[in-house]
Amino acid sequence: MAKLEEYIPIVGQSVVDDLRRLAEKLKGKRVQHVNSTPVGGGVAEILNRMVPLLRELGVDTRWDVIKGGEQFFGVTKKFHNALHGRGEEVTSRDFDIFMDTSAQNIKEVDTSGDIVFIHDPQPIALIKKKTDNKWLWRCHIDVSEPNQKVWKFLMNFILKYDSAVFSAPSFSQRLPIRQFLISPSIDPLSDKNKDLPQEKVDEVLVKYGIPKDKPIITQISRFDRLKDPLGVIQTFLQVRRYVDCRLILAGGTASDDPEGIQVIEEVQEKAKQNKDIHILLMQQNDIEINALQRASTVIMQKSIKEGFGLTVAEALWKGKPVVASNVGGIPLQVKHKYSGLLCHSIEGAAFAVKQLLNSPEYARKLGENGRENIRNNFLLTRHLREYMLLFLSLFHGEDVIYL
Ligand code: UDP
Repeated sequence: MAKLEEYIPIVGQSVVDDLRRLAEKLKGKRVQHVNSTPVGGGVAEILNRMVPLLRELGVDTRWDVIKGGEQFFGVTKKFHNALHGRGEEVTSRDFDIFMDTSAQNIKEVDTSGDIVFIHDPQPIALIKKKTDNKWLWRCHIDVSEPNQKVWKFLMNFILKYDSAVFSAPSFSQRLPIRQFLISPSIDPLSDKNKDLPQEKVDEVLVKYGIPKDKPIITQISRFDRLKDPLGVIQTFLQVRRYVDCRLILAGGTASDDPEGIQVIEEVQEKAKQNKDIHILLMQQNDIEINALQRASTVIMQKSIKEGFGLTVAEALWKGKPVVASNVGGIPLQVKHKYSGLLCHSIEGAAFAVKQLLNSPEYARKLGENGRENIRNNFLLTRHLREYMLLFLSLFHGEDVIYL
C-alpha cells in the first residue's frame, strides 16, 4: 500500500506536512470507525485506505463491522431506499427486526474509543452505548428528501450524537446537534486508481472477451436499482442507433444489500442476445475495475439517487469524459459542460454520450478539467485533513488542541 510520502508528487509537500501536524495533535486519542460491510460500496472503499493512512500518521485507529442476518440487511436496505426518497412500506415489524439485531451488536461491539465514528444508518443504534466519549454519525446517503417515518425513527438516535457529517450542503437537515459538510474522496494511489500500463488494460479486456474494435461506454456500479442499470442499457440502445459502440456494465453486490441478485437477473434478461452489451459480474477486483475504466471511451453514472458517487471521481481522475445524472453528490464533481455532462433522462443521457463519441477533442477537454477538479477537491489527503480537524473540534474547550 502506498505510503504518505508517495502522495507528495500528487498533492504537494505542504499538504502532507499539514496532515502530520494535525495527527500530532491527536496523539493519545483512539478513533474507531464502525460500518456494516468490509467490502462493496463506497464506505468500505474509503475506509480501506483511510484507516491505514491514519495509522501511518500515528492516529490510533480501528475499524469494526457490525453483524446482521438477511432480515436485518433487508430492513436496512429498505431504510436506505426510503431515505433516498423511494416509496417503501416500512412496517413496525421492520423496526423491531432492526432493534433486535442492534441489541445484539450493542452487546458485541466494543465502543470504547475516544471518538466513535458511525457510518450510515445500519450501526446507528450503537449510540446507546455512549459514555463520556465522542460520537459522530456520518451519513453517506442523499437525505435531502427522506421518508419521514424512517427519518423520525433515526432521529431518536441521531440526537444523541455529538455531531453529524453529511456529504453535500443540500443533504443537511435541521438538527439540534452540530453538522459538518465533508465530501468523500478517492485514493489516487490505490489499486483502483493508480496508473496502469496499457498491457494490463488490454489483458483485462481479453480476459472478459471485450474486443477493442469500437468505442466502449461503461458504468461501474453495484447492481442496485438506484444506479439505474436498465436505464443505462436503454441509453446505450438509443446511442447504438447512430454510433457503433459497446456497453460494459460491471459490478457486484455488497453483503449488506440483499436486492443485488434480483437486479442482476433483470439486467441479464434485458441484455441478452445483444453481443455488444457485456455484463461483468465481479466482486472487489480493483485492478480490473481500474483497467475497465481506463479502457472506456465514455463513463456513465446514471444513478437515480446518489450520495456522492465515487465511481464518478474515479472516472474523472483517469481523465475520462463522464455522463452522469444531476443528482445527489454528482454535481459537486461534474460541472455541466466543463468537467463532464449532466443528464436528467435517458434521452438526455443518450444525446450527451453521442456528443462525446462524435467530438473526441471536446470529450478529452472535459476529462482533463474533471481530473483537475478531483485533484483539487476530492483526493484522500483533503478528506483526511478534514476528518482530523473534525476530530480535534470535538475536544474544543478541553485542553487538548492548540492549532
Ligand atoms: N465498486 C467495486 N466493485 C463493484 C462495484 C463498485 O469495487 O463491483 C466500487 C466502485 O469502484 C466505487 C465504490 O465501489 O469505488 C462504489 O462507490 P459509489 O460511491 O460509487 O457507490 P455506492 O456503492 O457507495 O452507492
